[in-house]
Amino acid sequence: MALAWRDTPRNRERWQQLQNNTAFLQNEEARKGSLQCHYCDKGPLKIYSWNDFRGVNAPDKATADHVMARARGGSDAWDNLVVCCTPCNARKGSS
Ligand SMILES: [Zn+2]
Repeated sequence: MALAWRDTPRNRERWQQLQNNTAFLQNEEARKGSLQCHYCDKGPLKIYSWNDFRGVNAPDKATADHVMARARGGSDAWDNLVVCCTPCNARKGSS
């Protein structure tokens, strides 16, 4: 195994955020039938599992973007999240 999971508070927080984002995306897909980018309307976007290497640089990968950045006090609540494609997410910088 190349990468060992290290049980640190930071990693735990990151892991919980990933779980939360994935749950949000799955809920949106179920509700709307498909996922489209909130910013550029690209779609349908695909949900890749966090450990699916094909998703690492996939332009059609669905991500969850924070409307109010976490750095500025935005929460992980689903009403603070929008569906976002990877290029738009990268353009916006970290959220
Ligand atoms: Zn986009």
